[in-house]
Amino acid sequence: MSALLPVFPGVIVWPEAAQRAVFLAVAIAAVWLFYKTVDRRLFAHFPRPWVLPPGPLGKRLWRTFSEVFLQSRVIRDRPAAGIFHALVFWGFLAFAWVSAKHLALGVLGFDRAEPSAGFYDAFAGVWAIAVLLGIGALTFRRFILRPRALGKLSATSGVVAFLISALMVTYLLEWKVFSPPSTAWIVNWWAHTLAFFALLVVIPQSKHLHLLLSPFAIFFREETTSRVRPLREDGEDLGMVHFKDLAWKDVLDVNACVECGRCTQFCPANQIGGSLSPKEIILNMQHGLLRGGDLVAGTAEEKRAGSVWIDEQDLFQCLSCGACEYVCPVGIEHVGRKILDLRRGLVSEGRVSNEKVVKLFTTMERAPHNPWGIMQDTRKKFVDAKQFPIFDGKQEWLFWLGCGLNFDPHGQEVALAMKQILDAAGVSWGVLARESCCGEPARRAGNEYLYLQLAEELTSSLAEHGVKKIVACCPHCTTMLDKDYRQTKAYADLGIRVVHHSEMIEELLPKLSLKPSGESVTYHDPCYLARGRGITEAPRQILESCGVSITEAGHHGKNTYCCGAGGAQLFITDDRRGESVERVNQKRFAQLAETKASTIAVACPYCPIMLRDAAGAAKRDDIAILDLAEIVARRLSAAGDQPKTL
Ligand code: SF4
Ligand code: SF4
Repeated sequence: MSALLPVFPGVIVWPEAAQRAVFLAVAIAAVWLFYKTVDRRLFAHFPRPWVLPPGPLGKRLWRTFSEVFLQSRVIRDRPAAGIFHALVFWGFLAFAWVSAKHLALGVLGFDRAEPSAGFYDAFAGVWAIAVLLGIGALTFRRFILRPRALGKLSATSGVVAFLISALMVTYLLEWKVFSPPSTAWIVNWWAHTLAFFALLVVIPQSKHLHLLLSPFAIFFREETTSRVRPLREDGEDLGMVHFKDLAWKDVLDVNACVECGRCTQFCPANQIGGSLSPKEIILNMQHGLLRGGDLVAGTAEEKRAGSVWIDEQDLFQCLSCGACEYVCPVGIEHVGRKILDLRRGLVSEGRVSNEKVVKLFTTMERAPHNPWGIMQDTRKKFVDAKQFPIFDGKQEWLFWLGCGLNFDPHGQEVALAMKQILDAAGVSWGVLARESCCGEPARRAGNEYLYLQLAEELTSSLAEHGVKKIVACCPHCTTMLDKDYRQTKAYADLGIRVVHHSEMIEELLPKLSLKPSGESVTYHDPCYLARGRGITEAPRQILESCGVSITEAGHHGKNTYCCGAGGAQLFITDDRRGESVERVNQKRFAQLAETKASTIAVACPYCPIMLRDAAGAAKRDDIAILDLAEIVARRLSAAGDQPKTL
């Protein structure tokens, strides 16, 4: 090939060495700009040392493969847009080798160029068409259809769509139209190269940084939702207060957001017209971090004055249901790591103005330490009257009642049903003579100090009684005793096995003789059980063993819909009864009623409180709302079973 290369035919002629120098200069500048932007957005904010979260490597790798390479989550929640996104992503992968070969010519010289006539060139050509199709459809959606969840139009999205299309078109021209070393081929090569480096510069400056960050955010995400981290033991960790408190996963998260709006679209608190938008929480954190913000959250006035980035009232609307984390396609953890940690920061610094939150803490701080403020005598009378055995260290299982089963009238019926099941299966069990709250509402509402006090008391009591196994009917208590409490060494050292009653009843099924029923049932998955613990099969297995026919609601399994009680909302919600808005519990009840099932099965004492309230408002007392334990116990009674011994 000639040493002189016409770049613009008849106008400029460059020697090959000059063209190589220009290529290297452009490449180095683009890579440098790329690095500087990633450093400014990411590395500059990473706290040191990096502490990687523990967890099963195999599961994390599989999740990353499934969600990143197979695009499973992207397609699951928005199938049409998801497929087009997947086409673009898979096209990028197919193009990796083409790009490597293409760029190599900039260093090796164009005399190494060969016509694109091989199998791989044809393969990449097909993918180039698929990418153009995907980009065209996504651009149409974003700029013409403009779904509300995507928010404001973004110029960068248009630039990125143009550059990706330019890459594909220039590749197709190289594949089918131009041959090396023609002038047209060289011009086309430069157009492709400049589009490539322009993308390298634009991507880290925009939401498209998710291309780079999402595999890491997904890999390091917790398997279950809404997990609250333990505070550091240096005494200076009060929760998330300042931007400098962000852990590296939080820095990764806030920069990985692709602004798709799924979290807000699926957020029940937002759907009923609340101001909480998990997407805005993440983006406001991103803006605050990158613009050198100090305090993350505060009052509405402070937000208006620009001294904080998130309004406290938004944080206290969260149900900690985990729907946002469940749908986020890039592995962002909104709830335990951010919303609840920000609540904790505000409470620790005494900067909470929400009166209902303050009232909850005042009630729980006073003996008898439960969120309803009901006296221990009430519980004692119930336990004595129903002859619950008292745990004295000789029994195998501690049946933890929790506030729901201790004090709520329906909860007490669930406790009795569970008593019947445990006796029928010949389990050796007992309840504590005295129970305070495990501290769940306190921790979820942000009062770490109160939670730690209650946890310390309960830990001593469990150690004193020699408890080794606990069963609870409440997924919130189960999560506390199985996850949150284990963050303190004194409790973790006790090595207590903790199960939800659905897990235990499933294990006990072979020992129970159940008379089948022809009832139609729909099962409402509690958020803390389905998304928080990943348990969706055991309750259905139990119902099937009762012979009922199960009709699933649209939202079920891990895609469940909150009843409206979680995140301490049962005690602090601003229920807006005066306004003509549908509340979260009413929305959920309507979804369940739509199945036309005669019974709604639940597995949490909070859910029936919320659903019964909604059923009352809808005047639907024809639908029974029963806990799994009640359904099983009724089948036991029907079978006329007597307690069995092992
Ligand atoms: S946890 Fe639930 S209520 Fe809270 S932000 Fe996420 S989706 Fe909304
Ligand atoms: S946080 Fe996740 S779901 Fe929400 S807008 Fe960002 S990428 Fe989408």
